[in-house]
Amino acid sequence: MKTLSCSKLTKTYGGQTEGVLALNSFTYSFPNKGLVSILGKSGSGKSTLLCLLSLMEKPTAGKVYFKGDDINALPDKAKNRFLRDETSFIFQHYGLFDKETVLENVILPLLMKGYSRKKAIKKAETILLRFGLKGFARREVATLSGGEKQRVAICRALIKKPRIIFADEPTGALDARNGEEVMKMLSSASKSALVIMVSHNKELVEAYSDRILHLKDGKLVSEEKLKTEEGVEEEKTNTGTSSFWVLRFFAKYLKEDFRRNILTGLSGIIGCLSILLSFGYLTCSKEAMQRKRGETLEYLSANISKKEIINYGNSPVSLSREKRPTIEEINDRLGSLNYSVHPDYSVFFPLSPLYGFDNEEYSDVSFVSIYDSSLEEYGKNLLIEGEASLEQGICYVNDVFAKSHPSPIGKEVVVDLTVPLDNGFIHDEVKIYYRFAIKGIIGEFSYMNTPKVYYPYGLVENELRKTILENHSENLGKKINALDALELGLANENSKKVFFHDPNEMDLVYNKIKEENNIVISSNAFMVFDSFSSLSEAFSLCLWLLFAISLFGVIGINAMSFLSLFLKRRKEVALLFSLGAKKSEVMTPFLLESGLASILYCLLSIALFYPLKVLFNLLLQNYFGIGDLIDIPSFGPSVSGPVFLALFLAINVFIALFSGSMPILFSLRKGLRKELRDE
Ligand code: ADP
Ligand code: MG
Repeated sequence: MKTLSCSKLTKTYGGQTEGVLALNSFTYSFPNKGLVSILGKSGSGKSTLLCLLSLMEKPTAGKVYFKGDDINALPDKAKNRFLRDETSFIFQHYGLFDKETVLENVILPLLMKGYSRKKAIKKAETILLRFGLKGFARREVATLSGGEKQRVAICRALIKKPRIIFADEPTGALDARNGEEVMKMLSSASKSALVIMVSHNKELVEAYSDRILHLKDGKLVSEEKLKTEEGVEEEKTNTGTSSFWVLRFFAKYLKEDFRRNILTGLSGIIGCLSILLSFGYLTCSKEAMQRKRGETLEYLSANISKKEIINYGNSPVSLSREKRPTIEEINDRLGSLNYSVHPDYSVFFPLSPLYGFDNEEYSDVSFVSIYDSSLEEYGKNLLIEGEASLEQGICYVNDVFAKSHPSPIGKEVVVDLTVPLDNGFIHDEVKIYYRFAIKGIIGEFSYMNTPKVYYPYGLVENELRKTILENHSENLGKKINALDALELGLANENSKKVFFHDPNEMDLVYNKIKEENNIVISSNAFMVFDSFSSLSEAFSLCLWLLFAISLFGVIGINAMSFLSLFLKRRKEVALLFSLGAKKSEVMTPFLLESGLASILYCLLSIALFYPLKVLFNLLLQNYFGIGDLIDIPSFGPSVSGPVFLALFLAINVFIALFSGSMPILFSLRKGLRKELRDE
């Protein structure tokens, strides 16, 4: 049986009907040994024939048989074996790895076959010596002359002792002396293998060939048999295979692409950091705000009023007004909670009265009420200075107050007011004089940055109860104190004050209010928080945008970077395939490179994320009063912080591997000839 033969081999380029018929029904049985030359004018289909025989292209019709098997129908593994173990290809332009040494180039086919490096080097030295290239072993290929390069290429082709050697115009780029040299080498190789050589140098061909095939317009027109030399087919021992050589390529790629990988890494870090930071805010800020929400003493008090809708007959216009609710109405709504109801005496004690401090007069703070035991029960952990006390006549200030009035503890806040109570006919004056000793400073969420004085509500309430309104009493014929005046509607006050003892109950109440419509509960702390939350929502929207942009950025950077790495090496890749490397072997160095790069920049971003998180949180703390809005991204307990980071790393690496491998997979479909075409 002939080792290599083909029947009706046909190749059309660019469409069956109007395409170029490069090879037209070529049928031939090659001898098992000897030098078979293919002669023909340029464009007659010589290279096409070699490409079809060496699996670089698929035929449009017809078959190539190797040892009786249709090679195009073989599984990938067998195709690899055919290229790796049975054949070698010699290109007109050498097809060597230019930046490698001669030795590395020559031993590669042996490494692919599973030889140890040591053994491969020994064999390579022998063959280099045989062809007069001994001194070249450690030279970089790029520094060699054309003739030397081609001789090295032939050494690489011969070292694995292939059964068939394809050579496409191996002397085409060489001068006469070097051409002669190359022909001698091929001729000597043809003693033990089949050499199929394409050439248009008639003289050389006639001097060395055993047979000459003449091609014209893709057709075999004649065959000359110069010498008859038919060897018997030798059974070759099947050698092993190894993939370790790819690690060398990985190292080579890393070295060659160092700068590019650094740049990719930098952009990757920027992208990853934006993703982590925006995600860190988007997934963690809500919870942080929830935690902060109760962080003010003001949070425990609220005003309650009743809403009344007044309709005018059939008119579509209706008015709403607020009224003071009765205790029963309040109990009806909040019955199950722990709270106490008090009159709202803000007509007598305005929110921002004039006050004295350190012998000066100011009016820049809000006087906010606390239930007398609030601090003792709940506010203790908000104290940043001073102590919780149940003494009479004390007050607390917040940290904003302490900024404008340094070291306030122990000093007094004095409120001295005279409030007229006048219903048009009867006139009374309510005199208020209080001295509050500052006992402590409250550190609280202060989005609006207002200075505050917290005073005990009950104390003032008692004093007002003792304040008798003489003229009103006389008019009504009974003793009327300032608080009674509120109940009787003598003062224009339409809400009641409620104090809660537990911040969780406040949350319940506020969730409840949203559904109710006739009882209105309002709290300054809650409003401040609501407006902060809306601000944060708007901010989140921007961050989603940033997040989307960075995500596409990272994917794009990966894809572009790894695509360009591949494009740079497509010729090398094709060369490896033609040497019989497996798909996985060719891809591995690329995948390792892109995987390693992405792992590195991803880990670096994670490491950088921590200090940046602290920095940004500090900024937010300064501007908004909440410091821990950015944290390690997490989606509840199922995807906690560490899980998120691991997922992030995995997704990143996946994106990198995916974009790193796509180009190779795509280019495999197109065939190798385009990449390896000799210019
Ligand atoms: P030779 O090697 O004998 O000079 P080729 O085998 O390279 O000739 O080309 C044979 C014919 O096929 C030529 O006309 C060439 O233009 C055409 N051809 C080769 N490769 C392609 C291709 N990839 N696409 C279209 N036409 C091609
Ligand atoms: Mg050609």
